[in-house]
Amino acid sequence: MSERNLEQLIYKLRDTHALTLGEYETLIAHRTPDAAGLLAAFALVQKQQIYGNDVYIRGLIEVSNICRNDCLYCGIRKSNVNCDRYRLTKEDILECCAEGYALGFRTFVMQGGEDGSFSDAFLTGLLGEIKNRYPDCAVTLSLGERSMDSYRKLREAGADRYLLRHETADPEHYARLHPANLSWDNRMQCLRNLRELGFQVGCGFMVGSPYQTDAMLAKDLKFVETFKPDMCGIGPFIPHKDTPFREHPAGSVDLTCYLLSILRLIHPPVLLPATTALGTLAENGREKGILSGANVVMPNLSPASVRRKYMLYNNKLSDGAESAQALDSLKKRMESIGCTVAVARGDIIK
Ligand code: SAH
Repeated sequence: MSERNLEQLIYKLRDTHALTLGEYETLIAHRTPDAAGLLAAFALVQKQQIYGNDVYIRGLIEVSNICRNDCLYCGIRKSNVNCDRYRLTKEDILECCAEGYALGFRTFVMQGGEDGSFSDAFLTGLLGEIKNRYPDCAVTLSLGERSMDSYRKLREAGADRYLLRHETADPEHYARLHPANLSWDNRMQCLRNLRELGFQVGCGFMVGSPYQTDAMLAKDLKFVETFKPDMCGIGPFIPHKDTPFREHPAGSVDLTCYLLSILRLIHPPVLLPATTALGTLAENGREKGILSGANVVMPNLSPASVRRKYMLYNNKLSDGAESAQALDSLKKRMESIGCTVAVARGDIIK
């Protein structure tokens, strides 16, 4: 692969927002620092045209680490007996929202394990209360796979957005990362259901997860190209000491940033977070993500007492610049790279 040919692929991507599966794979397999620089430069132009210098913030509330699932990579998997379990009450969550609102957050993201006690009745009651108190805010849910009927109730109760990473667009890869009772087909169906119900939908995947190949990443990119999600969350895989993947090396920060640039070019309006996993693996990881094309950060709004318990992977950041309370330092960091933290719902601009 000559430099020249790689450059041509990047121009094609910029101009048509699409490549073949084989071309995506080539772009990934033959990446060079020069290619990364060119992709990032084009990605920033696209982002600038749509979102200017704004970076959107989301207050992340980790509502429960109780989970019925046993995903092999995840630190809060059911069979991890070392995980100290917690579940926030309705009052706890409303308190997080109050604190977040005062800080300037206009989107609340409620994420958690698949905790059976989050019934439709509980969640619709909570959503009603949040929407009643903060009608100018968006509410995002990230609570895993639920039935169409359940998603409909949540949507009718006011939920605006739903994050459900597809994890991998390759069904065989999916089967190696998850226990047999979880199916790739169902997860993909959930994404289509959420879209049909009018949610703004987010998919996403880990970079460097066990068994992942460049061909699989190419499939992830092709999926994003065809599905055109409103949001796409990607971050490096990081091992957790109490999971079967404890010995597996972490994913690459550079490859994650490279893929962020590609995603921006595939679907220019997509809302792309610079994730906590990226910030955990590299000092200034979030800044690197933003400079590669990301435009969202999701500081942690969970109560301090539970923050260290939502441990999806080793050393997950939860305080310092990751915390919502440290918004001033986040603002300064963003300003140092020419960006402004916006006080806004931050919906996708299509
Ligand atoms: N239960 C919800 C939320 C899952 S946690 C759901 O099913 O969608 C949010 C995301 O964290 C997951 O989708 C996964 O992509 C990511 N994650 C989990 N374990 C991880 C690890 N070890 N390293 C990096 N990311 C991880």
